[in-house]
Amino acid sequence: MSPFEIVVVSGKGGTGKTTLTACFAAMAEVPRVMADADVDAPNLGIILSPRETESRPFFGMKVAHVDAARCVGCGECLRFCRFGAIVMKDGKAVVDPGFCEGCGGCLLVCPESCIDKRAFQRGVLRRGETDFGPMWHARLAPGGENSGMLVALVRKEARREATELKAPLILVDGPPGVGCPATSSLTGAGLAVLVVEPSRSALSDLRRVIDLCRTLSLPFGVAINRWDISPEVTEEIRAVCDAEGWPVLGAVPFDERIARAVSDGRIPVEEMGRPLAELWRAILRRGSA
Ligand code: SF4
Ligand code: SF4
Repeated sequence: MSPFEIVVVSGKGGTGKTTLTACFAAMAEVPRVMADADVDAPNLGIILSPRETESRPFFGMKVAHVDAARCVGCGECLRFCRFGAIVMKDGKAVVDPGFCEGCGGCLLVCPESCIDKRAFQRGVLRRGETDFGPMWHARLAPGGENSGMLVALVRKEARREATELKAPLILVDGPPGVGCPATSSLTGAGLAVLVVEPSRSALSDLRRVIDLCRTLSLPFGVAINRWDISPEVTEEIRAVCDAEGWPVLGAVPFDERIARAVSDGRIPVEEMGRPLAELWRAILRRGSA
């Protein structure tokens, strides 16, 4: 049987999804593999402290590269590129890899055949052992592109290892937002847990992630974190969820001891107590529905 993948995401950062993912990793009672798919700001490792066993470069998509020694500065490539990825510098064409989409058109129009496509290192993929099982994570290089590809690679390795180990569960800490990395973290998963906290933008953030889940035909459930920092907004979120038919899986209160536990390097399962246990049970029920 293929492993069941739960991805914890949120419409914006700072909702506490990483702490909740770490708690779920500690609470699961079956063999599991963890993955941090937030490759721009990977934080799950700060809480789960993986002992590194593997590290490999991530190269991403191939982009155009000009052999400056052979370039005659005719400007054909620059005129062709619709992405503004080529500039002339000291009479030679230079490609900005951050803008190149790898279409290959400039290779075709260059009369000197002095452009080829090359892969540049865009980040690092890592594996480590945590107290709860293996964990895959990655870090995108500053300004690095192809974050969706790197997210897909992290998930692919986690899935491969879970299948090899016959681990029935994969827990993924997803990236915030609804862009390419979030889409890459959710595509083909089993369940999305959408973490929201009662802030002013909570409902619009939530609605955008739910739209994404629906586009991907992905089952989801809502987890309200720190619900008691604004009981009124929490009530509003619950009312909208009821009206829209969005399942609310649980609500966890704010507790200063949670932040203290995390800064002490502990996973705050005890501090979150019964509401966390109820949330986890609801997630498992929703996952098996
Ligand atoms: S490969 Fe395409 S996007 Fe990249 S520089 Fe050449 S024409 Fe522009
Ligand atoms: S088309 Fe070729 S020769 Fe002309 S500027 Fe571009 S890289 Fe240089």
